[in-house]
Amino acid sequence: MRPTFLPFHSPDIGEEEIQSVCESLRSGWLTTGPKSKKFEDDFSRYMGANHSIAVNSCTGALHLALEAIGIKSGDEVIVPTITFASTANVVHHLNATPVLVDCSPDTLTINPNDVEKAITEKTKAIVPVHMAGHPCEMDAILGIAKKSGLRIIEDAAHALPTRYKGKLVGKIGDITCFSFYATKTITTGEGGMITTQDSDLADRMRVMSLHGISRDAWARYTEKGSWYYEILSSGYKYNMTDLAAAIGIHQLKKVDSFAEARKKYAQIYEEGFRDIPEIQTPAELPNCEHAWHLYIIQLDTDKLRTTRDKIIENLKQKNIGTSVHFIPLHMHPYFKERYGFAPEEFPVASAAYKKIISLPIYPKMQEEDVHYVIETLREIILTERK
Ligand SMILES: *Cc1c(COP(=O)(O)O)cnc(C)c1O
Repeated sequence: MRPTFLPFHSPDIGEEEIQSVCESLRSGWLTTGPKSKKFEDDFSRYMGANHSIAVNSCTGALHLALEAIGIKSGDEVIVPTITFASTANVVHHLNATPVLVDCSPDTLTINPNDVEKAITEKTKAIVPVHMAGHPCEMDAILGIAKKSGLRIIEDAAHALPTRYKGKLVGKIGDITCFSFYATKTITTGEGGMITTQDSDLADRMRVMSLHGISRDAWARYTEKGSWYYEILSSGYKYNMTDLAAAIGIHQLKKVDSFAEARKKYAQIYEEGFRDIPEIQTPAELPNCEHAWHLYIIQLDTDKLRTTRDKIIENLKQKNIGTSVHFIPLHMHPYFKERYGFAPEEFPVASAAYKKIISLPIYPKMQEEDVHYVIETLREIILTERK
């Protein structure tokens, strides 16, 4: 057994990031300023997007996006049940209703057929989540949105970089929201980015990200700035700090090399579990490029004498950190109490939830760590076979 614990995730922070943060600290400019601006410009260049807006979380990004397209009280927004709290919480923040829908069993992404069934006269938008880094079926979703006059706000918290039919996620829907939370594919500690091709939406989100104030408040404190500003709307406080952007600028330079490392580890896992029918490895559908933010296996527990939870515990005893993405929203007390959901309403997500484990996959781990996870899990499965 390995002597040290293999964490589920560990961010890869280099000397460049550390230097860059120190530089910002010494410069005296701590919050939104030149580094945030550079990070936005670099991000737009990477994406080929017209507008990038740096914010302090993906949750804030999603909130701003929904506000910008005019989501308000009484509206409905379609959200997959397999996602993180943010995706639906921000809909509630605008006094609208998140309408949960089920997922496809192979990729755990939102099922376009279920989306179509969930549309009512009140539906205004769809929020596809590129789960684990696998793109949603965007052609089908774009088609539905066009037919029904809906907006698409993509939750791309896992999807940097993800490609769908050769196109980077970031300029497919109306607005795309990325996360730089500590566990994501690149990090700024806490942070997020919004991309859009639409100048009006970009302007609205930029204004609303900083109290609804008429122009970049940071410019007020530069030599060229003036003390004068106007409040145009009751905005939020979602701007990114330069301390965070100082990290992001250097993380973004490594985004493709990080992705290469995760892809390599995904291939090693795939090969390592190929002859174990009890382990369903994650799908990568044709014309899709997975970001491999998460490596989610599904266990055929009917063929085993143990449970998912016990396997997680066994792995932990063998010094391997794992996780579960996600407990579907419809299973959480808040949603059950508010909407009276039953697991049968979301058969695919409810069944998948009992079978899923996320294995460690990140550039900072070594190839031998991947092999250790494979050997350990294989041994557990072989001893627990019925
Ligand atoms: C992490 C995550 C978010 C929220 O990101 P933050 O930057 O922490 O706000 C939103 N959606 C999904 C699917 C996530 O995994």
